[in-house]
Amino acid sequence: MPSRQPDRADPEIVLRLLTEAYPDARVELAASNPLELLIAIVLSAQTTDERVNSVTPELFTRYRTAADYAAADLADLERILGPVGYYRQKAKAVKAVATALVERFDGEVPRTVEELVSIPWVGRKSAHLLVVSMFGGSALAVDTHVKRLAKRLGWTTQDDADKVEAEVAALFDPAELGRLTLTAILHGRRVCTARRPACGSCVLAGVCPSAGQFG
Ligand code: SF4
Repeated sequence: MPSRQPDRADPEIVLRLLTEAYPDARVELAASNPLELLIAIVLSAQTTDERVNSVTPELFTRYRTAADYAAADLADLERILGPVGYYRQKAKAVKAVATALVERFDGEVPRTVEELVSIPWVGRKSAHLLVVSMFGGSALAVDTHVKRLAKRLGWTTQDDADKVEAEVAALFDPAELGRLTLTAILHGRRVCTARRPACGSCVLAGVCPSAGQFG
């Protein structure tokens, strides 16, 4: 009789396998400092990292400091941001974020989650991604990929991102959450995709309770 897969993948084994598969995992948004990453994350809502990366070279060349963005001509921002979609809204968002940085943080990107989420347009997921990617912190950023993977691995049945975060984070050493975030996002993008997860070539297939259930 074939052995039955457990209902929940072992978190420690999953993280080891993901780390082996993605030893250099990092965010795929192009950014060389915290301000650039913060702006790129704001722009990434409802679009792909590739699309954001297609506009940020010009954006980051024309605008270098929070004060530059805060004083930017809205029409110029809209022109540059055209390809990312929702460009009017995003141009306003960029200015609002930059204005908050100038007025409350001396133009610098703050380093704590509490301060980051006090900035307009910056939610918990974005704050965690920044802290993990730029400040050496460890936190779980629950985006659509992390949530989907966590569900398929049997770690949560929740839909609400905060609840997913609480349930998944409880399975790990807090110091591991940054690595989990970065590797899980890549795995969700490249292998465990929403419509056609590639279970046949997935490094987690041996421990995943959902392996092979997608036709
Ligand atoms: S085995 Fe399939 S469902 Fe499980 S993590 Fe891999 S791709 Fe996703």
